[in-house]
Amino acid sequence: MPELPEVETVVRDVRPHLVGRRITRVELGRRQPLKTPPRKIVELLEDATVESVERWGKNIVIRLQGGAWWLIHLGMSGRLAVSPASEARPPHTHGVFALDSGEYELRYSDPRMFGRIEVTRDIPARLKKLGPEPLEIAEAEFVEGLRARRTRVKALLLDQSFVRGVGNIYADESLFRAMLDPRTVGARVKPDRAAALHRELQAVLREAIESKGSSVRTYLYGGGESGNYQYEHLVYGRAGEPCTRCGIVLKTGVVAGRTTVWCGKCVKANGEIKNQKSKGKSQKLKSKSRKAREAAA
Ligand SMILES: [Zn+2]
Repeated sequence: MPELPEVETVVRDVRPHLVGRRITRVELGRRQPLKTPPRKIVELLEDATVESVERWGKNIVIRLQGGAWWLIHLGMSGRLAVSPASEARPPHTHGVFALDSGEYELRYSDPRMFGRIEVTRDIPARLKKLGPEPLEIAEAEFVEGLRARRTRVKALLLDQSFVRGVGNIYADESLFRAMLDPRTVGARVKPDRAAALHRELQAVLREAIESKGSSVRTYLYGGGESGNYQYEHLVYGRAGEPCTRCGIVLKTGVVAGRTTVWCGKCVKANGEIKNQKSKGKSQKLKSKSRKAREAAA
């Protein structure tokens, strides 16, 4: 599913077409990932002018003049793009928002419908609960926050109230680069490793944004372009392949309820202490539907 770099790419792609534009017409499909009644969406969006387009974690946050909030979450397979109105709409288009620029419209399509579209007068509670942006959080705050928790580091990175926007790909990539065992409990991570994780997380996110994200499964942006960061993955999707650093076969297992890939030798070389205590929690999470969990993140 799209994570911070993919959503950032989409936001950068649509923002120049939307800011200052008025929405002239709203068309909603019958089966939609709508979290707001269609009538209310039309009422709040038609004739509204876009003030700003931002990314909060994995959420696309569009502020409208007059103060309303238009929130789009791409879920697993959502696509948001500005396209010429004359161009054929992609299958599974659930929302079309015509712009006063005339020939263009914003389109939301989503084959699997785990995404969400919400329009509200006030900022929704779930957005208020989001933690800091991983690209903005200071090293000291990150290190302190991580070491104060008795949760596995992999689960912490995925926890949107700890940092917002990180999902399975960038959690595994940053943990590998910081030579940290994903199963290590936050409180047991040495300060220098926690600082390394902060540094590597920021580096991997910046590099991925530079490459327009990772196109695994369905993610595309703009007129159907793919990101390129999937070619740079060191561990994600590489279970059973040799570690790029030491050459031994990469391990895989379920950590924090998600398929996780790491190098057992590299993390050992780093001398990290493993802690198996939170196994019960990860087992419990495993029983929930993976799709539902991913969609909720
Ligand atoms: Zn290795």
